[in-house]
Amino acid sequence: MENTAFIALGSNIGNRYDNMVNAINKLIQNPSIQLVNFSSIYETDPVGYEDQDLFLNMVIMVKTSLKAIELLDICLKIEIELGRKREIVWGPRTIDLDILTYNQENIVSEKLNVPHPRMLERAFVMIPLLEIDPNLCIPEVEKPLNILLNELPDKEGVRIWKRKNGEDVFVPIGS
Ligand code: ADP
Ligand code: MG
Repeated sequence: MENTAFIALGSNIGNRYDNMVNAINKLIQNPSIQLVNFSSIYETDPVGYEDQDLFLNMVIMVKTSLKAIELLDICLKIEIELGRKREIVWGPRTIDLDILTYNQENIVSEKLNVPHPRMLERAFVMIPLLEIDPNLCIPEVEKPLNILLNELPDKEGVRIWKRKNGEDVFVPIGS
């Protein structure tokens, strides 16, 4: 498993927690994907299209022998399996799986952009990402990510919902 990727998960329809756990379990059922780390779960105010329910968001770190585009195809397939329908841009979704980074690669294509082009502006991505890797470097980004996060306006819209290492321990892998 020579490649490292960070994947952001988000859900605001149905049982949001089950949607995220089911998505993680489906990902790691693939023998070419291994879960290395995961963040706490945060509840977040919707951004972009605001007339919708609160989201749960988290970030996971995986190792994989898949190419980035193969990993994307698996993510998109899991979104469909969990009942996602694309109706409104940035609108409600059962599950959203976004590849944030893939090694230190820059990928620009019609289907896949990595690093994810909007990740640096989204506190609901940056807070869980920095929780699991505070020293992460992103290709072509000079500033440390914690400084970029401090400059973001909507941090109070991201609130801890289930702490990874607390009394309310979150175990994403089905038992
Ligand atoms: P968003 O996540 O911005 O709300 P969608 O989840 O509806 O948008 O994704 C739309 C398309 O974005 C996907 O079909 C996929 O091909 C494309 N895409 C481009 N780069 C990425 C990435 N890094 N991770 C996930 N999807 C991506
Ligand atoms: Mg997406």
